Amino acid sequence: MACGEFELIERYFKNRQEPRFDVVKTIGDDCALLAPAAEQLVAISTDTLVSGVHFFEDMPADSLGFKALAANLSDLAAMGADPSWVSLALTLPEIDEPWLELFSSGFFKAADYYGIELVGGDVTKGPLSITLTVQGQVPKDLQLTRDNARIGDWICVTGNLGDAALALESLYGRADIPSDDLEYLINRLYHPTPRLHAGQVLRKIASAAIDLSDGLASDLAHIAKQSGCKAVVDIDSLPLSDQLLRNTDTQQAIKLALTGGEDYELCFTVSPSALGSVESALAHTNTSFACIGQMNSGEGIEFRQNNQVVDIDYRGFAHF
Ligand code: ADP
Ligand code: MG
Repeated sequence: MACGEFELIERYFKNRQEPRFDVVKTIGDDCALLAPAAEQLVAISTDTLVSGVHFFEDMPADSLGFKALAANLSDLAAMGADPSWVSLALTLPEIDEPWLELFSSGFFKAADYYGIELVGGDVTKGPLSITLTVQGQVPKDLQLTRDNARIGDWICVTGNLGDAALALESLYGRADIPSDDLEYLINRLYHPTPRLHAGQVLRKIASAAIDLSDGLASDLAHIAKQSGCKAVVDIDSLPLSDQLLRNTDTQQAIKLALTGGEDYELCFTVSPSALGSVESALAHTNTSFACIGQMNSGEGIEFRQNNQVVDIDYRGFAHF
């Protein structure tokens, strides 16, 4: 049975979650009304995903719903913020109920798991695109930013790099990967893990942080630039999964780890004296991490292998 805009909202988006205590008014009025806690900064981030640009048209809708939110939550993680509220602007070519059912189930799976409430949005007709605005809260003065790395700080990353990029290579038909490995890699592409707990424990310890959406080479350059330092990265220390290593040669693995986007891991810097605290804090959140280099004086990024500077001009994903 076809349904209109309001029915669609009622059916797929309203009353799908346990209400949060700090939501005074949710879906159904002209605005949502939210009550941030005292002494917290509100962190806000918006992302748009356009069909055929940011995802394949035939991407399973539940994965799309999950990933759209997970990717946006990754920005909150990078600020050390706790997720609170989200709004969803959907542009749909038509009302496709089976698609909406799947999309909303994936979306709410992520929303419930990470404790963020859908409090509003918009529905319009047009080429498929999804815009999310997430809001989180971070205690005043504990926010993680990109501009506070210091010379001598270690550069670290959570998890493994390059998996999502190899999955994408396979979807483009440029890599032939056995099904077990492919399942792992596609899961990394379609169901990224926003490192929220890591971000929360790092906010007392790390000096700067960014989430890896466009590729390490491009994202780490933002920390270097905004902090006024040079990032020196040891290529041999990049954390690479067995699945990546088994299905690429070393050069390609490094390239994917440096430039393939969509890892949604955190890259952060920490003073050498606080590295032990990082180890125990991240062990508590069950997050693996690797030290991949150090901040130095100068600017930009330098890559080293066997202590020699290597010339790599890898750029991450650029929209224009
Ligand atoms: P208005 O015309 O005042 O902007 P709408 O008619 O667009 O309001 O939306 C009605 C209510 O439904 C609003 O509270 C809005 O935030 C909510 N809403 C609209 N689209 C979505 C959506 N995709 N997900 C969640 N809530 C939505
Ligand atoms: Mg509207």
